[in-house]
Amino acid sequence: MTVSATGCAVAAEQSAPRVVRNESGQREVFCGLTGIVWLHRKIQDAFFLVVGSRTCAHLIQSAAGVMIFAEPRFATAIMEEKDLAGLTDANIELDRIVTQLLTRRPDIKLLFLVGSCPSEVIKLDLSRAALRLSQRFSPGVRILNYSGSGLETTFTQGEDACLASLVPELSLARTSEDSLLIVGSMADVVEDQFIRMFDALGIGPVQFFPPRKSTALPTVGPNTKFLLAQPFLLETARELENRGAKRLAAPFPLGVEGTTGFLRAAADAFGIAPAVFDKVTEPNRARAARALEVYRTELAGKRIFFFPDSQLEIPLARFLSRELSMQLVEVGTPYLHREHLAEELKLLPADAAITEGQDVDLQLDRCRLARPDIVVCGLGLANPLEAEGITTKWSIELVFTPIQGYEQAADLAELFARPLVRRAKLVA
Ligand code: SF4
Repeated sequence: MTVSATGCAVAAEQSAPRVVRNESGQREVFCGLTGIVWLHRKIQDAFFLVVGSRTCAHLIQSAAGVMIFAEPRFATAIMEEKDLAGLTDANIELDRIVTQLLTRRPDIKLLFLVGSCPSEVIKLDLSRAALRLSQRFSPGVRILNYSGSGLETTFTQGEDACLASLVPELSLARTSEDSLLIVGSMADVVEDQFIRMFDALGIGPVQFFPPRKSTALPTVGPNTKFLLAQPFLLETARELENRGAKRLAAPFPLGVEGTTGFLRAAADAFGIAPAVFDKVTEPNRARAARALEVYRTELAGKRIFFFPDSQLEIPLARFLSRELSMQLVEVGTPYLHREHLAEELKLLPADAAITEGQDVDLQLDRCRLARPDIVVCGLGLANPLEAEGITTKWSIELVFTPIQGYEQAADLAELFARPLVRRAKLVA
């Protein structure tokens, strides 16, 4: 996973070599702190304490749309300039804030200290702070740390860093029975649908990571087979493999085809007969395909351009081109993890123009020249492009919305159809 100088490279895993444009230049992406917005909803007894600046606090508050009447499960310990004077003081101050927080909020069972990019934060050793505070507050509260710094992470990598920090906390699975671990945050409603599907297929036990409660962390070991539900979990997958777990190669569960491939990978690994697989999945596949028909009429032939942002771009492009007949103008992705995306790349049209990394000015020039029907991009680019008359879809919305699985395939299609309908009404 590297970003090289602008140029072209060949994805060696392709049976037919695929040309990938590599760019390095100015990037327009959110930092990894953004992941807190969906992670704090997912792990319901966790708290995320960002150690950062006022900018970090503003980002988190505006991204999360904090409700003033709710007790949020995230906050920012703001490092003031005076804290630069002495790191000992900063550590004492951090300990004081954590002690105050945990005394006031006994519901917190897992506390993440989240690093950011201001230089005064980088100088603080948050891993030592987490260790020191853990000794004081364990066993009631686990205290871990990871970095959400914009210098190191794009916005979905925050989840990767968070989950990777949690892997060492997973207990060893002490059984010779195979188990399935689904890795990556999905909405609870989507998880419940997958639980029912795995149940019907006779696959189990099934665990999810992250879990809804930190007190119910999954176990892991050599008999754990895991499926990545999100394409941005490189470090987490590596940590799980270090613990002996085996990743199942599969497409990501977006659309009918992706969901079927995702489930089939598990079914094959657990020795489920193809006839059973078809019997269980066929009604869902047929229903989801029917629900997509109306959107195919709206979206077929429409030209779409992806700016690199969420790392969901390749699976989304596969879904939109194969199930909705959209035309891919350019598929930008911040990183192209060829191993994790191998099953996706096999399905993507051979002539799809993939770009890894970003040089935002060059990419904007290509986009303006191509005049696509719709652009998927971050918030920073969406407003200027809309002002130029180009329809946009915010990539961050695709991370916050339940989009995986059969039941959500049509909802996912609608996310792309809606802005086009709105634009059509505006120009009518
Ligand atoms: S971590 Fe860095 S990029 Fe993110 S909000 Fe804070 S200062 Fe900005």
